[in-house]
Amino acid sequence: MVSKLREHKTSTAVYVAQIRPGNISLELLRGALTIADGFAKAKGIRLNLAPALRVDAFQREIDQRGPLSFVWRGNVENRKAAPDRRGGLATFVVQDGRISGTVILGPDIYLINPLGNGLHAIVKTNPSVYPAEHPPGTTPKANDAPEIAPQKEGLLQNQSAPVIRALVLYTPAVRKALQQFGSDPDALATMAIESTNLASKNSNVRMSVNLVKSEEIAYVEKDFPSDLAMLRASAWVKTERETATAQVVFLLTTVSDYCGLSDVILADKSSAFAVINYICAVGNFSLAHEFGHLLGLRHERATDKDDRPFRNGHGYVYKNEWRTIMATRKACASCPRIPFWSNPSIKYNGVPAGTKDYEDEADVINDTAPIIAGFH
Ligand SMILES: [Zn+2]
Repeated sequence: MVSKLREHKTSTAVYVAQIRPGNISLELLRGALTIADGFAKAKGIRLNLAPALRVDAFQREIDQRGPLSFVWRGNVENRKAAPDRRGGLATFVVQDGRISGTVILGPDIYLINPLGNGLHAIVKTNPSVYPAEHPPGTTPKANDAPEIAPQKEGLLQNQSAPVIRALVLYTPAVRKALQQFGSDPDALATMAIESTNLASKNSNVRMSVNLVKSEEIAYVEKDFPSDLAMLRASAWVKTERETATAQVVFLLTTVSDYCGLSDVILADKSSAFAVINYICAVGNFSLAHEFGHLLGLRHERATDKDDRPFRNGHGYVYKNEWRTIMATRKACASCPRIPFWSNPSIKYNGVPAGTKDYEDEADVINDTAPIIAGFH
């Protein structure tokens, strides 16, 4: 299993490590044992990401889904790193006791996959080796911006965040590929949706995505445009979507020359579809990226000057340091993509994550998420 991970194109290094010895990681994630372990702050865990790389993570919130299922979100501190690279983010999805996760630290992203018996494969990925975002010449057409009624700030704060219901489909090829790595499609779908929610929380966006169902589709994948056309036209998909009362539908495939393709920029009900390469779905935040297009967002202005449907709906690249979810590696190949929507009033490692005029996707999503959440 580990040798398979090592062959994985996007893995620059693979380390097998127990997150904690003694198979008590679940208790640690719940924060039960941390003070006794000598942490200064409560609810901390020590992550052994690689030989000589031990970092501390502190729980920010925990979202219980079932007796042995929960989502853990927290901050990471690497005290040995330079100040602007010290901070990071960790998310763990625990399903029936199995832990998957992502840790973003400075320029590196670590993916954590369960191997069984309390062992985990910790895979360090390199942002520059993911495939290009989209097939060339397939920029989705942009729908016009809808009339959006101005909302009073106080009123906005009092409303509950719109919830968007997502159906995630995957091909048999995806299931087989994941099983080789000791993972499964439902865990991947959950991680991909959770990384979208993480970005929204990080960026102060009022939207949450609910994975209503993940299921296999009896379909042999071809290429991004054909698979997208199938999603739109399939009577089976239509029925499954209606049964699940899902507003958006994602398809995970193993087609690996690109990371994804969405139907349009700013979806209506008939175009709220996207196809994502399963390799990119979590590590490259590609499910979130394609969903961003459906919400009306575009790439960084350096490579995408088109301002339809929203001038301020662009991804943001900060020097040669990092880029937000909608920014592609064309602008900075070595920059990790961080789980943030651009937003000038939010900071990542002390730096604003956008500009008011062009890179404020959080503002766009706050307007478009209620529209998508209203599809039925
Ligand atoms: Zn894109």
